Amino acid sequence: MAKLTIRTDSCKGCGLCVDACPKKILRLSETALNVGGYHPVEVTDESQCIGCASCAVRCPDVVIEVER
Ligand code: SF4
Ligand code: SF4
Repeated sequence: MAKLTIRTDSCKGCGLCVDACPKKILRLSETALNVGGYHPVEVTDESQCIGCASCAVRCPDVVIEVER
């Protein structure tokens, strides 16, 4: 199983990573707000992550790190 590290406070809530994930396990939080006032990305089921790193590559702000 891959491990995701999300620097939540750097996320701008743009959703690019959400669209990039082939497993559809990323979403923007409906409740949490980060220091920038954005709804940050969160992972719904990390056990389903295949470690493809599409999310990390897509993010313009290098918020997500994927370890395989
Ligand atoms: S590494 Fe791939 S499967 Fe895992 S969250 Fe990112 S885009 Fe989705
Ligand atoms: S692509 Fe980056 S900035 Fe945009 S929602 Fe995903 S983690 Fe946040």
